[in-house]
Amino acid sequence: MKILLVEDERQLSDILAVLLKQNLHEIDAVYNGTDGEDCAMTGVYDAIILDIMLPKKNGIEVLRSLRRQGLSTPVLLLTAKSEIEDKIRGLDTGADDYLTKPFNSGELLARLRAITRRGSEFVGDELRAGNTSLDKNTHELRGEKGSVKLAAKEYQIMDMLLANSRQIIPKERFVEKIWGFDSEAEYNSIEVYVSFVRKKLAAIGSDLQIKAVRNAGYCLEAPSDAQTAQN
Ligand code: CA
Repeated sequence: MKILLVEDERQLSDILAVLLKQNLHEIDAVYNGTDGEDCAMTGVYDAIILDIMLPKKNGIEVLRSLRRQGLSTPVLLLTAKSEIEDKIRGLDTGADDYLTKPFNSGELLARLRAITRRGSEFVGDELRAGNTSLDKNTHELRGEKGSVKLAAKEYQIMDMLLANSRQIIPKERFVEKIWGFDSEAEYNSIEVYVSFVRKKLAAIGSDLQIKAVRNAGYCLEAPSDAQTAQN
């Protein structure tokens, strides 16, 4: 895997870089938030390890900006023990997991494995579930009866659902990820966009269903999940 490491403590950064290289990962290390954001936005990384306390731009701001720009690369946040509030904000802002310093190297590697295999199957630039696929480049959604191009917000919704299939995603997560943490977007905007996506899924003959879970959020269900598991 190609990993971006954004950590300003040189000693820790160097140790992590050696560890990750020993485990056959390719590493790019940068030492402040703005460099981190610029590198991350190239989209070439399989995972990003992001410290919270960083010079120039802190990790939470970097993460928020990445998610706002639609980057879905898995992010593992590094936090100090005293930064519990940041940790919560980080997860709400779209971090996939966090690790509290000091941590053990085995745990870091395990968390990296977990965040990069989470969700649906990645086949090149496609996300797949059931009989349906989503092209991450063209934003085309394909099913048995054809394909349809998703608008930007519809794409982000479908991308989040596919990347976390069979998990309930709270409405707040959608709002924060799509409109941004400070957004005043109403939750009913999410409902409207979800209804657009549902119509498109039906139109292409998809067997996926976006289930609304009362007072909790949305969950993607694929009837063929069970069949695949049996095979
Ligand atoms: Ca730091």
